[in-house]
Amino acid sequence: MTAHSTQRGAANVETAQPSLVASVEAGGTKFVCAIGTGPDDVRTTTSFATTSPEESLGQAVAFIQEHQRIGLEVAAVGIACFGPLDLREESPTYGRITSTPKPGWRDTDVVAPFTDAFGVPVGLDTDVNGAALAESQWGAGQGLDPVVYVTVGTGIGAGAMVNGGLLHGLVHPEMGHVPVRRHPDDPFEGVCPYHGDCLEGLASGPAIEARWQRVARDLGPERDRAVALEAWYLAQLASTLAYVLSPEVIIFGGGVLKLPGLLVAIQAETATLLNGYLDAAVAREHIDQYIVAPQLGDRAGVLGGIALAHRQIRGSEGYK
Ligand code: ZN
Repeated sequence: MTAHSTQRGAANVETAQPSLVASVEAGGTKFVCAIGTGPDDVRTTTSFATTSPEESLGQAVAFIQEHQRIGLEVAAVGIACFGPLDLREESPTYGRITSTPKPGWRDTDVVAPFTDAFGVPVGLDTDVNGAALAESQWGAGQGLDPVVYVTVGTGIGAGAMVNGGLLHGLVHPEMGHVPVRRHPDDPFEGVCPYHGDCLEGLASGPAIEARWQRVARDLGPERDRAVALEAWYLAQLASTLAYVLSPEVIIFGGGVLKLPGLLVAIQAETATLLNGYLDAAVAREHIDQYIVAPQLGDRAGVLGGIALAHRQIRGSEGYK
């Protein structure tokens, strides 16, 4: 246990009796809600398609209310949400989704419906910061800092735990939009509406679908080529992260990582890119311990909501 995690009170959550809280993982395509105290104690869960803000947030509130009525009182709500989000607590628009291209969601206040309905602390962060927090607390990032969690799915995003706090900033990191070096044999123009051939434009799930005319899980003979291209691009993010944030572990999750062989290919390509520049013991000889899969699997996001709720109860000590 590092000084950082002791300071932020993680030990209390793990050893004392943690409060029962609600989690809302608000994704661009689906919501996952849960009530529980941690990975070994999820009492109930539900998921539904993301539609309009009113309907989806209303369904999440109703889910928690239903369980309150049968005795599952929650002490806080944690929301791990797609973004971009305004996370500056002093901002008049704190808690709102900002410039999303997702129809109807721009300027949506995702915090108020829960504050209004339940009157309990409501924690909010990006879905990837939530997953980074959950993996840091219960999964592949335990005892490590910084921890970076990258998801590759409908989009590409990454969250980071740095010095015991979740990394925010002017907005929050948007690591999926970093520029990348094009593969010499890749003529695909990219799908990012803002940048075309940024990382997300070239390597997200929609990029795979546009490049190969089929979704990642349905790839046939082109799969090996697709995996090689994904690794070429995602390894550039991994090596950039290694240099910029000096993380102790980089966790790759999301639907695209279910492509067989992709994680190993990213590890190999990253080792090639780093070329021994970082400490070989960390980044080359043990690259399979440096770039890893989420230990919490597909539950990292919804468990992130639980971790965010606990963190909100504890207050802002050591929390950026
Ligand atoms: Zn972009």
